[in-house]
Amino acid sequence: MTRGGPVIAVDGPAAAGKGTLARRLAEALDLPYLDTGLLYRAVGRLALDAGQDPAQPAERFAEALMPADMRRKDLRTPDVALAASKVAAQPAVRAALVETQHRFATERGAVLDGRDIGTAIFPDADVKLFITASSATRALRRFLQSGGDPTAADAQTRLREMEEALHARDEADASRESAPLRVADDAHVIETDTLDAQAVLAEALRVTRERLVAVRG
Ligand code: C5P
Repeated sequence: MTRGGPVIAVDGPAAAGKGTLARRLAEALDLPYLDTGLLYRAVGRLALDAGQDPAQPAERFAEALMPADMRRKDLRTPDVALAASKVAAQPAVRAALVETQHRFATERGAVLDGRDIGTAIFPDADVKLFITASSATRALRRFLQSGGDPTAADAQTRLREMEEALHARDEADASRESAPLRVADDAHVIETDTLDAQAVLAEALRVTRERLVAVRG
């Protein structure tokens, strides 16, 4: 595949910090950035809007997806995340979204974050990063991001519910037959439990620069 710049794949489970890292990496390297989860969230949202169970065939929504669908403000809710995971398990939905992802990176290269970027969408990516953390850490981050108060009386219950929801989505993403979440053989894994966003970026930039020199000379 001829491309105008490097492709950097950032994969990993939900709420591991992929989005923050990928956005900052793209800024630092002056590359376009695509959050591929938004593609599946937008398809899930359209299925819900149509009153359809997202587990039912949803490729018609993926085929008709417009850029404005991905800019909607109501894609970050737990019900849309679950719907995204259900439509994402359908091979026909995934197939309909491949071309969009390839085209995005053609002109200048790109940083893309998701679940299958380094394994299925760009198996020839110049750099592959796999960002992960324990489900407890990920649930706590999501809780705080969503404005949760750790001193509130129901904080422990809400945290437990969030951890269970994340775990269920990871299980579904990793056990599906079509492009499951897994670490590519040539990916560099970054465990973020004990690292802040700045440290994750520093490590990712170090690996990226090292690999780009090795690949491009
Ligand atoms: O990353 P995010 O949480 O927005 O992704 C929502 C869902 O979309 C994931 O749980 C996963 O099922 C699906 N997804 C995927 N492949 C990607 C990106 C997201 O299957 N590349």
